[in-house]
Amino acid sequence: MESLKLAARNGRERTVIKVKDVEIGKGFVVIAGPCSVESEEQMLITAQKVKEAGATMLRGGAFKPRTSPYSFQGLGLQGLKILEKASKATGLPVVTEVVDPRDVSWVCEYADVLQIGTRNMQNFALLKEVGKANKPVLLKRGMYSSLKEWLYSIEYILSEGNPNVILCERGIRTFETYTRNTLDLSAVPAMKELSHLPIIIDPSHATGKPSLIEPMSLAAVSAGADGIIVEVHYKPEEALSDKEQALTPEQFDLMMRKIRRLVAFHHQLEKEFNHHEFHE
Ligand code: PEP
Ligand code: MN
Repeated sequence: MESLKLAARNGRERTVIKVKDVEIGKGFVVIAGPCSVESEEQMLITAQKVKEAGATMLRGGAFKPRTSPYSFQGLGLQGLKILEKASKATGLPVVTEVVDPRDVSWVCEYADVLQIGTRNMQNFALLKEVGKANKPVLLKRGMYSSLKEWLYSIEYILSEGNPNVILCERGIRTFETYTRNTLDLSAVPAMKELSHLPIIIDPSHATGKPSLIEPMSLAAVSAGADGIIVEVHYKPEEALSDKEQALTPEQFDLMMRKIRRLVAFHHQLEKEFNHHEFHE
């Protein structure tokens, strides 16, 4: 893939992306929060709870790319203002999705990281626009996309001048219907071979099931992921989107305790085996 001038590993140092005090690509970052921003109360309480449990960043969609035009589409500007308030209250930077190239410049006034959703991974007009933005981009893998196609989408962003792209494996469509998608965990070490950019996983959209989120998150630590982005809601049964996959703050807290222990264990392993990366 020699035409990947900027996205390919090619012996480059790994990219570490700084978002306020958080460094993505060093340690294990946990981005948590509701699927959608629904109200001030919902966002502020959820933000406080995930912060107490140890989350390092906040998520929440103000623009929702829904399969049905009749589903909740998000609060738009009002949602971004709520997100800003939650960020100020907790000190956590925020990740939020942008779905329209015309919104990119003004969404940057509220977002610390711009999320590109799975349905827009090949929306080239949008990729070019976030490539011109001065905020890092969280680029989710298209649910039908190969790693090669993903790499070319990354190249679109980098070639516009924005060097800060965080990758996110969020599950791909397969014949399996028990899970919402199929988490391609091998994409984590594979993209680390192919690219210099940090990669996280989204166990919420990958599985669609709260009971599977913790095992997949722990597996992501072992696979060498740089973090996770996970949906947490203070009252999952009342969520306006993705309520069936949201963790309660209590479930999230328990998972965080295990993640911290496993991350510490992996640091130990690396020291013990004088860690060197494969294929280098
Ligand atoms: C989301 O993060 O809420 C979302 C819509 O994700 P995806 O684009 O992966 O479906
Ligand atoms: Mn969601």
